[in-house]
Amino acid sequence: MRDFSKAKRIVVKIGTNVLTKGDCVDSAYVRRVASQVGSLLAGGRQVVIVSSGAIGMGAGQLHLDEKVKGMKMRQACAAIGQPLLMQEYRKSFLRHGITVAQVLLTAEVLSNRKTYLNLRNSIETLLDLKVLPVLNENDSVSTDEIGTAFGDNDKLSALVASKIDADLLIILSDIDALYDKNPQEHPDARPIPAVFEITPQMVKNAGGEGSKYGTGGMRTKLEAAKIASNAGCRIVLADGRLKDVIGRVIGGEEIGTVFMPKRKLSNRARWILNSTPAGTITIDAGAMQALRNRKSLLPSGVTGVGGTFEASAVVMLNNNAKAVTNLSSSQLKALAGKHSSEIRKILGPKHRDVVAIPEDIVIIDY
Ligand code: GLU
Repeated sequence: MRDFSKAKRIVVKIGTNVLTKGDCVDSAYVRRVASQVGSLLAGGRQVVIVSSGAIGMGAGQLHLDEKVKGMKMRQACAAIGQPLLMQEYRKSFLRHGITVAQVLLTAEVLSNRKTYLNLRNSIETLLDLKVLPVLNENDSVSTDEIGTAFGDNDKLSALVASKIDADLLIILSDIDALYDKNPQEHPDARPIPAVFEITPQMVKNAGGEGSKYGTGGMRTKLEAAKIASNAGCRIVLADGRLKDVIGRVIGGEEIGTVFMPKRKLSNRARWILNSTPAGTITIDAGAMQALRNRKSLLPSGVTGVGGTFEASAVVMLNNNAKAVTNLSSSQLKALAGKHSSEIRKILGPKHRDVVAIPEDIVIIDY
């Protein structure tokens, strides 16, 4: 049985395909979302919407009916479409006396500790003011090339849900559930009502491709589920076009797939986990085992350094963990494999000889 009666903070992610009809936004759909979200707010819950659709709406405005290819064109379409998208939300929510606020994000914002905390503060303030934040990726400035893109709003919505300690993330999509086999290839595929662990087989079955203007497919939904699950947040993936879908999900109706959380990491640990690593520190098996036993990482366990980074950057430790390093890549290169006494000789007595403390290390292959 699903019980969301105590889910106070809810993130609702709405995909491009759900939101648009042909090449235009489906205004009637946005009105229905507004009335469902309005009921949640009236019932004392807090809601954040993550909405796709900017690129699709921009493309529609320019009468481009092909898939918008190329970074520059997607950026231009997003810049054109984003205000149109917000206009739809604004109009529909105003009918319920609800003010909406636009928040545009890049992956960089969530990777930087300071802007990450600023974001949390601004969303908290908007929620306190009973304003509805509507989030999207800042597609006009974020690109994969410079590592500032989330790539898809599924991931963005999970990162935001994690960031604001949401109890529930509802992903409204044209994909109605997770299936035991790829339903596009296997007509006998059956939906899975509840997932307690995302297995490599599930990821393999998920396939890749997303939609015409959007980017997310099943694979990105599973990635989102993993991110949210480390934050103790449940996810429901459901057919966004079902009648009164938000209300029914909250009411505990068994629609779509629910992903149950695995562990709830601290806020700092989640920031580390979700940051883009600045480099890699390779460590030996003994050091890895020590980390698993909640010990610090010492230079004696370091066997190599990849990339250039400053002290306090988030880095990968092999492929199994992420950490905030106390030492820069050049310091580490000089110290790798050395023992603490030698390190103090090299760096001077006041220097920290620990690469990372347990609070700053998160194991990924948990
Ligand atoms: N941010 C994109 C948009 O608003 C959508 C990304 C996605 O589909 O996940 O058009």
